Amino acid sequence: MTFQIIDGKETAARLREQIKETVSQLDPKPGLAVIIVGDHPASKTYVTGKENAAKDIGMHFEKIELPDTIQETELLKKIDELNSNEAIHGFIVQLPLPKHIDEKLVIESILPMKDADGFSPINLGNLMLNNNSIVSATPKGIIKLLEEYNIELEGRHAVIVGRSNIVGKPIALLLQQKHCTVTMCHSKTKDLKNITKDADILVAAVGKPNLITKDMVKKGAVVIDVGTSRLEDGTLTGDVDFENVKKVASHITPVPGGVGPMTITMLLENCLECYNLQR
Ligand code: NAP
Repeated sequence: MTFQIIDGKETAARLREQIKETVSQLDPKPGLAVIIVGDHPASKTYVTGKENAAKDIGMHFEKIELPDTIQETELLKKIDELNSNEAIHGFIVQLPLPKHIDEKLVIESILPMKDADGFSPINLGNLMLNNNSIVSATPKGIIKLLEEYNIELEGRHAVIVGRSNIVGKPIALLLQQKHCTVTMCHSKTKDLKNITKDADILVAAVGKPNLITKDMVKKGAVVIDVGTSRLEDGTLTGDVDFENVKKVASHITPVPGGVGPMTITMLLENCLECYNLQR
């Protein structure tokens, strides 16, 4: 059995060069905006990553920083302004939001054709119906990685651990579109190991370090680790016991350097898709 580490960093950089080339030929430039509410340190880091990536490929970028005391109506007004701002083709509201703001309402207020995160009910609904849609960046990035590494999907058993609207559910739909047989697991799943052990493709999107251990993985399985948790010493870690699982997997994504870099690249690609939809 050949073994390969799926290098998300290298793949993302290569795809980003292609997007950069496309953007260089466009006039006006595609515009991406990010709304960030409050001082959440992780959110600030993510937004800086998105800003650097967008500027690096020559996109127009705007960051709208709002205090965490902002009223919901004020935030919705900002969203309306971006919905009608012709220089901005795609935008996102960085999550999480302060508790007094209704996240669902905020996401629903983003014009679907400017919804660069693909979180709106219209885009998620279209994904379910196999219609064209803006697909959430992380699941889209996972599919790209599987394609780039020529991993066969048709007829294979994909097990997804985690059922969030932004990762678990969309990746399940995308893998089903690729003709996988999909099983979804979550916190109430009984005997998780028995299910993961049967996976040809195993996607862990939970946020619990070392949840997936070697004894839960079939020999030759493709393991995609979406989880990102900070350990006490500041190290970023995934859901998979990487060092041991790599002894049985055929392919595995590291954390960091696997799914994460693809997410930002797919956000840029989504912004380009929004641009094309509007022009
Ligand atoms: P989420 O909304 O918190 O969902 C976590 C899911 O895991 C839930 O469906 C939950 O089940 C399930 N779960 C919790 N404990 C479990 C257990 N012991 N066994 C099986 N399932 C369990 O998280 P998310 O937003 O999808 O993110 C998941 C992880 O991916 C996080 O670490 C996040 O930081 C990371 N992430 C990374 C990227 C990236 O670009 N690398 C992007 C997005 C997210 P219930 O539904 O029953 O509660």
